[in-house]
Amino acid sequence: MKLLVVGGAGYIGSHTVRQLRAAGHEVVVFDNLSSGHAAALPTDVPLLRGDLLDPDSIRTALESQRPDAVVHFAALIEVGESMRAPGRYYRNNVTGSLNLLQAIVDTRKVPLVFSSTAAVYGTTDAVPIPEDAPLRPESVYGETKLMTERMIHAFHVAHGLPYTVLRYFNVCGAAPGGHIGEAHPSKTHLIELACLTALGQREKMMVFGNDYPTPDGTCLRDYVHVQDLADAHVLAVEALLAGRMMAATYNVGLGRGFSVQEVLDAVDEVVGTPLPRELAPRRAGDPPRLVADASRIVSDLGFAPQFTDLRQMVQTAWDWHRHHPNGFQD
Ligand code: UDP
Repeated sequence: MKLLVVGGAGYIGSHTVRQLRAAGHEVVVFDNLSSGHAAALPTDVPLLRGDLLDPDSIRTALESQRPDAVVHFAALIEVGESMRAPGRYYRNNVTGSLNLLQAIVDTRKVPLVFSSTAAVYGTTDAVPIPEDAPLRPESVYGETKLMTERMIHAFHVAHGLPYTVLRYFNVCGAAPGGHIGEAHPSKTHLIELACLTALGQREKMMVFGNDYPTPDGTCLRDYVHVQDLADAHVLAVEALLAGRMMAATYNVGLGRGFSVQEVLDAVDEVVGTPLPRELAPRRAGDPPRLVADASRIVSDLGFAPQFTDLRQMVQTAWDWHRHHPNGFQD
C-alpha cells in the first residue's frame, strides 16, 4: 500500500518510514524540514517539501500522490518552549492538523495514524496509566496534542474518518546500525543528553530531583525504543487498511518504569565510564512516575516490542551519537 508520512523526516518519522518500507509499503514523505532532516530519509523516498499551515500544499500532495493512508508526525514537541510560545504551538500543531484533516476528508478520506503523547494525561495517580485515565495536560504542548485527538475523533464521527491515535511514552534509542537517530535542534531528553555528555559536548549530567516518592527518589519513566514505536505505527496502519480498529487510541510503552538513576547507570555501563552527575532541583512539571498500561495495543494489534533491555536501548542511542557527534551535520 502507499502511505503519505507527514513529518517523516523527523526522529520517529524517519524510523517509521524505514519500518513501513521493510513491511513492503511504498512511502512518500511530506515535511517542512523545520526540525527534520532530508538526510534521515533513504534517498529513494520522495520528499515533498510542504507545510501543513499551507492548506493547498497538503491538499495537492494528497491529490497527486493518492495514498491509501496517512501517518501524521508533524508537530512542535518541546514542553518548555510551548509554555513560552503558546501561539506558535497552537497554530502549528492544532491549525496544521486541522488543515490536514480537512484535506483528507475533502479528498480521499483515507485512514489516519496520529502521533500523540503521554503528556495528555498530566500528573495522575494511576500506575500504570490506562487509556481511559483522566486527560489533564499540564503543558501547551500536551494541550495541542489532546485538541488534535479530539478533532480527529470529531472528523471520525462526522465524516467516517478511520483513525488510530498512538500515545507515546519516553521514546529513545536509534535504529541498530547507527545511521539515523535523535537529532533535535534543542536537546532535553535524558538519554540523548547523557550520550552527548559522554562525548564531551556537555560537562555533566544534572539529576532533576532525588526526593520523589519512588524507590530511589528519582523519576520513573517508561522507555520505548524508537524502532518498536515505529513497528507500532506499521501495526496500526495495517489494521486500519484491513478495516479493523477504526477509531482506536493506544498507549505505546513497555509497561514498566526505569528511574533517572537507573538510566544513567545504564549509560555509564554502555559508554564504559561513569559520567559526572550533579543533583539539581526538580524540573517544573515532571510527574514522579509515568508508566503505560500497554495491554490494549498488545491485545488489539499484537504489539511485541523487541527492545526490552534498558542497556540494549541505550547501546543503540550511543552507537548513533558516537558515530554522528554532530547529528546529521556529519
Ligand atoms: N532528566 C534529568 N536530567 C536531564 C534530563 C532529564 O534528570 O538532564 C529527568 C527528567 O526530570 C525526567 C526524566 O529524566 O524525570 C526523563 O526526562 P526527559 O526529558 O528525557 O523526558 P520526559 O519524561 O520529560 O518526556
